[in-house]
Amino acid sequence: MMRSSWSAGPADIGIREVDDPVLVNPDDVIVDVRYAAICGSDLWPYRGLLPRHEPGSTGHEFLGVVSEVGETVSGFQVGDAVIAPFMYSDGICPECRRGLQSQCARGGLWGRDGVGAQTERIRVPFADTTLVALPWADAEIDDALAMRLLPLADVFATGYHGAVLAGVGPGDVVVVVGDGAVGLSAAIAAGMLGAGRVVLMGGNPQRLRVAAARGIETLRVFPTDVGAERLAEAFGDLIVDRVIEAVGMQAAFDTALDVVRVGGSVGFVGVPHGVDAIAPMRLFSKAVHLAGGTAPARHYLERFVAETRAGRLDVSVLIDRMLPFDAIKDGYEAMDTGESLKVVLRIR
Ligand SMILES: [Zn+2]
Repeated sequence: MMRSSWSAGPADIGIREVDDPVLVNPDDVIVDVRYAAICGSDLWPYRGLLPRHEPGSTGHEFLGVVSEVGETVSGFQVGDAVIAPFMYSDGICPECRRGLQSQCARGGLWGRDGVGAQTERIRVPFADTTLVALPWADAEIDDALAMRLLPLADVFATGYHGAVLAGVGPGDVVVVVGDGAVGLSAAIAAGMLGAGRVVLMGGNPQRLRVAAARGIETLRVFPTDVGAERLAEAFGDLIVDRVIEAVGMQAAFDTALDVVRVGGSVGFVGVPHGVDAIAPMRLFSKAVHLAGGTAPARHYLERFVAETRAGRLDVSVLIDRMLPFDAIKDGYEAMDTGESLKVVLRIR
């Protein structure tokens, strides 16, 4: 038996004993989870915002050590330190080969089938094409390193994908709408991609301070504000080449489409909730390019890990709390209230 997160419905999260996972397919491995993160999207079922809530374990961001290996797995051995993207994928279908592993028909999101990653052990399907080896030994992985690595598995990859979808390139003026972990990630990623100027718009002063400390320009907006008006007040005639929408709500889309320049582009990576008013004429009249989708984290993850190893990428600013596994409820509450941006759980 092992200890696993467990949620039976909205506002319920805890730990219970469940059966250990076993190898099912020859290309599976079992990973002993060392650290797992709590994602903003773990809060949707917690807040009762999903139509159905299957009881089960939660979470989809983890790193750990391989403890069992299926017969056809060639890339991993027992004892290897690994990180997983937030989805598993077969690596061989047309979508995977195109670098769109998040669209893999045989792939899936951890936790969706009630088997989540906030757990002591997890079965990894398609291990060779899902997991990414960590260039550290198990013993070298401590809290500080886990805080630099875990955001790469989901939020940072998502923000980075937003910047890629928006077509951010050298010298671009970039606006990021939304100051959650994804928005902050997008702002950092825009800098990596050579943006000349990055402005992060959001409503949380604490997060805007975190961004400012990274050299990102910030603009505080309030729920009653019209985003484009606030930007014009604060920055005058700023010509915005690229916008990354990192919220997924109508007001954020409106801001993004209002502030982008003629012929500019908008990447959206906030999962749309109740967004139903993007008239084609809004894009047509400004010749705006709009692109969105779930980030293929696996596509980017090896490079992110290498950049982290080389000391060129540090996204630990996205994590503001490390808790023991037993305190999982405190972690969800801290993120639910906005007290924490992102929490990591020390599983073992
Ligand atoms: Zn695939």
